[in-house]
Amino acid sequence: MKTLVVKIGTSTLLRGGALDEAYLADVARQVAALREDGWRTVVVTSGAVRLGLDTIGRAQAVRLAEKQAAAAIGQSLLMRAYRRAFAGCDLHVAQLLLTRADVADRRRFLNARHTTTQLFRWGVVPVVNENDTVATEEIRFGDNDSLAALTALVAEAELVLLLSDVDGFYLPGESAPLKRIERITPEIEAAAGGTGSRRGTGGAGGIGGMRTKIEAARIATQAGIELVIAHGRETDVVRRVARGDSLGTRFAPRLVLRGRKRWIAHGRPPQGALLLHDRARVALLDKGSSLLPVGILGVEGEFAPGALVALRDSRGEYGRGLSNYSAADLRRIAGMHSSQIAPLLGRSALAEAIHRDNLTLEAASAETYAEEISLDQAGGREQNHRAEK
Ligand code: GLU
Repeated sequence: MKTLVVKIGTSTLLRGGALDEAYLADVARQVAALREDGWRTVVVTSGAVRLGLDTIGRAQAVRLAEKQAAAAIGQSLLMRAYRRAFAGCDLHVAQLLLTRADVADRRRFLNARHTTTQLFRWGVVPVVNENDTVATEEIRFGDNDSLAALTALVAEAELVLLLSDVDGFYLPGESAPLKRIERITPEIEAAAGGTGSRRGTGGAGGIGGMRTKIEAARIATQAGIELVIAHGRETDVVRRVARGDSLGTRFAPRLVLRGRKRWIAHGRPPQGALLLHDRARVALLDKGSSLLPVGILGVEGEFAPGALVALRDSRGEYGRGLSNYSAADLRRIAGMHSSQIAPLLGRSALAEAIHRDNLTLEAASAETYAEEISLDQAGGREQNHRAEK
């Protein structure tokens, strides 16, 4: 079975100011049909805030507390609609409310994964939204496009489909959307209305909220997951996109990362950064080495052992990893050879600053790629098992 994450935005879900139940019934029908094609589906839904506001006759929520309260009203109405729609196809739904912090914490992330796996086992369709009611600014996804991409990491999905009120991603002046995007270039970012803050209002930027969609595409594709933006009202859109039909805009997956490495790359923001020698890049990418202290030029931030750090050289950031050492210790041993470390930090000091198993790199060469895949296939199961403890 393959796994698909479908995100339904507020504008797709509502018609004439009311929840479009016929539309939801149609989505349910497609999800049911997809099971026959070997796909299980997770739905990421918006609409809680809007429905809540409509219920109490308010046009908009200005303060965060208003949004949170509106979501608390709307979320149960949303779930009632999903339950009805999917019951029509003999499917049960389950509500999953996530915050950014649930994905950032490895244990909670795995918990969410185990819940999802169990729901799949029971043939139940998870319906995910942000837990708006408790999500303060610092721990918000902020928009359901990023939530959909990160849900794909949780559910180990192969494909994310963002249903929108536009039929794909347009470059300025073009009359048709791009069919396929291999790489998110500065040109594409500019056309989406710049990258900027992801914390903005849901679906901000450009036509059809393209900025948050491009950000979601970046998260998904860098984790090796394909992402498609398509018009939500297109006939049979979910099934056709899953089948690989040329519909909307498809973002090609970039890296083949699995399991824990995906989470290292995208599960949470880094707590510091290491500035590396340019020549370290070759060793890390092409030789698949661990990062040794000798390759480190500088350390930014304060962090404890086990922290996630970004890796940079003069050409920019190209990876992330879990540091064996605190920032303070790394500053002491930066640039040193392994033999010089023990006298400073004790005999049991680890030779690697970051072990290769705890490292993800953005632009892996062909060889590293191949090695990563074969590692996944050969020892992957055992390794994941070990890593998840
Ligand atoms: N979580 C919000 C809601 O359900 C939607 C955020 C978004 O539209 O991106 O109302």
